[in-house]
Amino acid sequence: MYRIGQGIDVHQFADKRKLILGGVQVPAERGLLGHSDADVLVHAVMDALLGATGNGDIGKHFPDSDSAYKDADSLMLLQKVREIISAYTVLNIDAVIIAQEPKLQPYFKQMSANIARVIQISEEQVNIKATTTEWLGFTGRKEGIVATAVVMVKKI
Ligand SMILES: [Zn+2]
Repeated sequence: MYRIGQGIDVHQFADKRKLILGGVQVPAERGLLGHSDADVLVHAVMDALLGATGNGDIGKHFPDSDSAYKDADSLMLLQKVREIISAYTVLNIDAVIIAQEPKLQPYFKQMSANIARVIQISEEQVNIKATTTEWLGFTGRKEGIVATAVVMVKKI
């Protein structure tokens, strides 16, 4: 039994924050604002996995109001999602980071490796890519970053 899920997340840029994407600290002038480490890519993947398996969304499992998740490492939250969806194997993940800057391609491999390790699949099952919006919209104005993810899972 195959199922698909999608996820989308947005965080705004802020001063004095690290930019964490897929568990990688990417060199940048500003990072993303959020209750946790604001790893927009991992959050989109988590939402897609929860969606594919009929487990609601990230807000249901990790509410902003819970101080336990303040500055949380999103890869640890992804680990919790892995446990929630343990009745499924993950076949593949395809994710897009939408950001005007910085250049992210040099970090894709490490991002894939981090996500694959936590979900216990191989790196080649996790495809990460990025696009700009050609200076259009809030991402083009460098106000924030969007990430989207699609996943396919199979019931064990
Ligand atoms: Zn988020």
